[in-house]
Amino acid sequence: MTDKLSRAEQAREFGFETRQLHAGQRPDPNTGARAVPIFQTTSYVFEDPESAAAYFNLQEYGNTYSRIMNPTVAVFEERVANLEGGAGAVAFASGIAAQAAALFTLLQPGDHVVSSSALYGGTVNQLKHLLRKMSVELTWVDPDDPGAWREAVRPNTKAFFGETIGNPSGNVLDIETVAAIAHEHELPLIVDNTFATPYLCRPIEWGADIVIHSATKFIGGHGTSIGGVVVEAGTFDWSNGRFPVVADASPAYHGLRFHETFGMYGYLMKLRAETLRDLGGALSPFNAFLFLQGLETLSLRMDRHVENARAVAAFLDSHELASNVTYPGLPGNKYRPLVDKYLPRGAGAVFSFDCAGGRAGGQGLIGGLTLWSHLANVGDAKSLVIHPASTTHRQLGDEELRAAGVGPGTVRLSVGTESVEDLIWDLEQGFARVAATTGAASDAPSGAPSAAKGGEKVETA
Ligand SMILES: *Cc1c(COP(=O)(O)O)cnc(C)c1O
Repeated sequence: MTDKLSRAEQAREFGFETRQLHAGQRPDPNTGARAVPIFQTTSYVFEDPESAAAYFNLQEYGNTYSRIMNPTVAVFEERVANLEGGAGAVAFASGIAAQAAALFTLLQPGDHVVSSSALYGGTVNQLKHLLRKMSVELTWVDPDDPGAWREAVRPNTKAFFGETIGNPSGNVLDIETVAAIAHEHELPLIVDNTFATPYLCRPIEWGADIVIHSATKFIGGHGTSIGGVVVEAGTFDWSNGRFPVVADASPAYHGLRFHETFGMYGYLMKLRAETLRDLGGALSPFNAFLFLQGLETLSLRMDRHVENARAVAAFLDSHELASNVTYPGLPGNKYRPLVDKYLPRGAGAVFSFDCAGGRAGGQGLIGGLTLWSHLANVGDAKSLVIHPASTTHRQLGDEELRAAGVGPGTVRLSVGTESVEDLIWDLEQGFARVAATTGAASDAPSGAPSAAKGGEKVETA
């Protein structure tokens, strides 16, 4: 490409804020459209029979069918890959589909995976049950213990898996250390970077080989769409002898050797041409368009999410009805040194705390909130709250809850971008209700909007 922007990109390294708006896209050459058009089409007319054959042989890269690739989705893929510093990316219909595809591409029956035990609940289910169905073994490790990662490695181990910021305990993964251990054993480290986003942390810069996102969360940012994406660094040696499934002649693609043929794009080509083709969880062009709208303001929203999360965490930390605030950015938090290293712009906006009064306290607090939305999601511009013991972890007894790192009074927050005074005012209302219903003492004046700016009235969300 020889357009002006491409020439500028060669002469100058653009900043994150520039790339979140421009990477992977040029104004549409046919129409001049500045925004990314939604190519709502299932398929593409071939110029001639020869180029059609070349596309299907992967000798030339061209659009065939939107389960495999689509021009709107391609802009989203390129933009995320650019922001994460990867060689490329493949998008999926959900974060869970992205994870499954990333693993299926490098695993075969009899293999073994080592994973952090502090993960998003849906990922725990996926690793625990789906991998077993594939006859893949799994070892959970304490992500904070480098020795545990090393000791878990077996001859049939094929990957390490962890999250930049774990859920709900707020543990921060020591990516550089864990990546070094993975590489000692010629294994790739896969990092779910959903809670950090590429603005707050880029795991590839610290040695991660594959980065996964649920785009459903902060990348979309508005709670409108489900989607996911897999980014690969392009530096892992898939021909090191441990990964015949990536390196050897593929029976699923007429004997193609993906790593030998496509080099740094080999894993990604297999992920698209085989795994996406066969599992079929393709991202829709419309959702890709919405995620691109989200990416345009990612840094602006994340700065605001972090600023609000810090203020809410500090408020809770000093509130007598709240304890065990897991925000890793708090001064004195045990992950603070890792936050300073990996997340210098802030530790995201999702964390939990324990509300006084146990189960009744946690439920009472949420019942007393008007602005925070009670639902099972994170990463929306709107502030979200959930009481795990009565919802996502409802089946567990108090003992089992403790083992899962969830107390009966644990409340999880995803701090949004509203006026922070209003968020704190609303929490004060909730605590006043806890104090009234559980008899726990409160320093919050009951029902008084003491922190609200000018006593503004807040509409119920
Ligand atoms: C939501 C989430 C997922 C799953 O993504 P979906 O888009 O819901 O399929 C995976 N990991 C983390 C950290 C998440 O928050």
